[in-house]
Amino acid sequence: MSTESAKDWKLLEVRPIAVGGTRVICVANQKGGVAKTTTAVNLAAALALRGHETLIIDVDPQSNATTGVGIDHRTVEASSYDLMVGSAGLDDCVMPTAIDHLACVPASLDLAGAEIELVGSLAREHKLAEALAGATGKYRFVFLDCPPSLGLITINALVAARDLIVPVQCEYYALEGLGQLLNTAERVRRSLNSDLRISGVLLTMYDARTKLSSQVSDEVRAHFGELVFKTVVPRSVRLSEAPSFGEPVVTLDPTSRGSISYKLLAAEVETRYGHEAVIEERPSAPLASAAPATPGPGGRGYGTQTAQPDDLHLDWPRTEPWTEIAVDEPVTTRRDS
Ligand code: ADP
Ligand code: MG
Repeated sequence: MSTESAKDWKLLEVRPIAVGGTRVICVANQKGGVAKTTTAVNLAAALALRGHETLIIDVDPQSNATTGVGIDHRTVEASSYDLMVGSAGLDDCVMPTAIDHLACVPASLDLAGAEIELVGSLAREHKLAEALAGATGKYRFVFLDCPPSLGLITINALVAARDLIVPVQCEYYALEGLGQLLNTAERVRRSLNSDLRISGVLLTMYDARTKLSSQVSDEVRAHFGELVFKTVVPRSVRLSEAPSFGEPVVTLDPTSRGSISYKLLAAEVETRYGHEAVIEERPSAPLASAAPATPGPGGRGYGTQTAQPDDLHLDWPRTEPWTEIAVDEPVTTRRDS
């Protein structure tokens, strides 16, 4: 990425964000597999556990966020497709989840056709923003889980949002393509949504055993400075298993490292956005000592149900949760087996 263009990206400015109200947060990166969905689902769930009314809107036709929060496709009557084409209002599309304070607007396969259907329509980039106008005040956080492209769906999400969170996988090529995303977001900021700002770059799948992870992390911090969240999400097997149970890892295995990192991130997001936790979180016991998790709506449930031996099981919650781990250190010390 050239530094010339970075200077022109007004959306990179760090602004004081101490205002209340609804925060609509777009989680985007046109690369697939960088943990957009994992971040949207677990950050949303972690904020809900802290008492914030939170809505996750799945705008990826692959519907991973929908199944990730345990919604069975067969029960979906109205989806984010209906929001985009205007055939249903927000309230008709919102479905409850098993987690208090967390609701979801599911995606459906029809959404794949929405980009084409909308091509000829008026104000096609504003469809989602218009549909979300009713969310103001009802939810404290609204997350938009974007597809891996910079097409009309992602543009709609950038127009509807005030904040953009960009997950970056700690792998080679991590920064490649990021300029394209930022150029698109900057164009949206200039012409369609002057409120849009990047409110955070999140390092994901950090593997402390590899030099590569720390090099990528250094490079991203050199580019984006204080925009990069202090919390780093480690590579964790439990995070990749959770979707098959249709449950975010923050409730599936509350004391695993992935879970703790997303809870730390939730606290960091709260601070950035000037909100305080509504309730003191009282995480349940780890699943190893609880009833076995049931598979998700897809009927699967992959992986181990007992805690991973290298998961970081803190003596939760007797200790002060947010001081247990220094947030500027990656949470991991070893990679999951
Ligand atoms: P995206 O939405 O950007 O395509 P996903 O959130 O679906 O990415 O993540 C891609 C894959 O990587 C999924 O299988 C997910 O479970 C897994 N994954 C995400 N974050 C982690 C992590 N920190 N450690 C291990 N696996 C992860
Ligand atoms: Mg995804």
